[in-house]
Amino acid sequence: MKDEKVTAIITGSVFDHIPFGKAVILIKLFGLNGKYPYLMGSGLKSEKSPDGKKDIIKIEGKELTEEEINILSLIAPSVTVSIIRDGKVFRKIKTELPERVSRIIICNNTKCITSIDKNSDTEFIITKRSGEIFLKCKYCGREYKIDDVKIVI
Ligand SMILES: [Zn+2]
Repeated sequence: MKDEKVTAIITGSVFDHIPFGKAVILIKLFGLNGKYPYLMGSGLKSEKSPDGKKDIIKIEGKELTEEEINILSLIAPSVTVSIIRDGKVFRKIKTELPERVSRIIICNNTKCITSIDKNSDTEFIITKRSGEIFLKCKYCGREYKIDDVKIVI
């Protein structure tokens, strides 16, 4: 069985098929350093990935929130998430790109109402064109590529 290695954690989550090099970003975003014990593999062989490499993260004791799944699907659209309970795969989640994302993305436009009023929530409409993910601010209409926005959680 392929999932045999998953038994390294008892209860938690496994993120597989993360694009090569993105696991470090996800660990930073989820604030994993010091919070939950985790295992990370980077540059593992993968036939599914275009560059033949993937990253993987296993986190002990953590199940994902909806916001975290949204972040995952924005940064690593190819990711598969397995929820592990009692050392076995309890549930598999295939992430889907959300239509909208709130709060976790900051609008870079200093004139945007969400930049002026720090208590207001941001909201972005997400589209995918020629394989690239774009986020359009609902308030000022400015559009960003995923690599050009600041994510906060
Ligand atoms: Zn804006």
